[in-house]
Amino acid sequence: MNDWLIVKQTEKKDRGCFAIRDIPKETQIIEYKGKIVSKSLAEKMESKHKAKGELWIFTLNKNQDIDASRGGNEARFINHSCSTNCEPVNYDDEEIWIEATQDIKKGEEITYNYGFDGPDEYFPCLCGSKNCCGWIVDEDYKFKPGEKEELQKEHDKLLEDPFLQKKTHFKHSKEHIEIVQDKNKL
Ligand SMILES: [Zn+2]
Repeated sequence: MNDWLIVKQTEKKDRGCFAIRDIPKETQIIEYKGKIVSKSLAEKMESKHKAKGELWIFTLNKNQDIDASRGGNEARFINHSCSTNCEPVNYDDEEIWIEATQDIKKGEEITYNYGFDGPDEYFPCLCGSKNCCGWIVDEDYKFKPGEKEELQKEHDKLLEDPFLQKKTHFKHSKEHIEIVQDKNKL
């Protein structure tokens, strides 16, 4: 059990982490735990996870990553967002802690930016915040003209796969697209 958060079902997403008490800015909330693995194993695991719509590899240092699918704790359920209240902090390339970048109220969802170098057609961002860029990617990433449309096309292709459609991230992505389309019809 963590002192600050619990894992709960969310309305839009599968699971997320929520503050169980007010959390002051700069609190070390939780360590991102998991098995420390080589880059080559992490790459293999990552493609396995990807097919299930899961993102459970965290970069630790230039030789190793953390695979939260094994020995992971609640931190692996913290969702990415384009509008965050936490950030990951790397201590000596050995430990990753999720820390509050602002005061967080009891009941708020805890999020941080996953900081990916580039977007992946597998993972649209479902954060729903006003400044959502549409994809799970570092906030400083600059999209090229037409890149988002291309990613969406590739993603729509993935959604035609009935196997993927049953997986959580894809299921929610499909619902998300349908809601947006319905809104556009109005
Ligand atoms: Zn977003």
